Amino acid sequence: MSVIETVELRKTYGRLQALKGVSLRVEKGQIYGLLGQNGAGKTTLIKILLGIVGLTEGQASLLGAPAGDANARRRVGYLPEDHAFPGYHTGYSLMDFYGSLYGVPSAERKKRIPETLEQVGIAGRMHYKIKTYSKGMKQRLGIAQAMLHRPDLIILDEPTDGVDPMGRAEIRDLMAQLKDDGHTIFLNSHLLGEVELICDRVAILQQGKLVREGTIAELTKTKGTFVLGLLAG
Ligand code: ATP
Repeated sequence: MSVIETVELRKTYGRLQALKGVSLRVEKGQIYGLLGQNGAGKTTLIKILLGIVGLTEGQASLLGAPAGDANARRRVGYLPEDHAFPGYHTGYSLMDFYGSLYGVPSAERKKRIPETLEQVGIAGRMHYKIKTYSKGMKQRLGIAQAMLHRPDLIILDEPTDGVDPMGRAEIRDLMAQLKDDGHTIFLNSHLLGEVELICDRVAILQQGKLVREGTIAELTKTKGTFVLGLLAG
């Protein structure tokens, strides 16, 4: 069973065709990158899988269930693009809040929160208010939040957006570490340098169309600088 599968997926917003027949498949244990410029349709694909918006035509499944299925949704950890955590929370109290939303028992949260924050490298700051965190620390907290209920799939929408180059490298290393620990990750990114370093497979979206799919080695072997040229615009 695939973790994510879409078949000829189409989405229109009024007259705008955001997805124009996208077929892809993500298997367990992979880091799968969806690469494309702003407006390519990446967030729309995630929102369909999670049931935030409906699809127009085609099929989409998540963890073996139709897109939007509530049980499948609870087995996913999601870091949305442009999320904003309330700054008055501490890292710990925010995690505690999310843990309770996802039904993680209180005693288990006490154990799991420091462990998870340690894994993403911010345990030392967990009792500080989030408003004192750097952008990179907030993103790492977001990844920790997405992992807390031990999901079967982690979906990260532009997790390094707005983060400085050093922080980006650290988040990349963290994603690679999560994969080594057995997690499956679906990553939206507009950064080739990000996906080529850590993804097992990559799909390239351009204006709602999936123009290439494969391993980075396959993509660069068959088309040379094609990918770079595509992203350059
Ligand atoms: P970004 O990183 O900028 O979010 P993206 O690749 O994730 O880019 P989407 O957010 O999926 O792209 O947007 C795809 C297209 O659909 C864009 O042209 C966007 O303006 C449009 N769009 C997205 N959401 C809506 C909406 N709710 N109503 C109308 N148009 C929308």
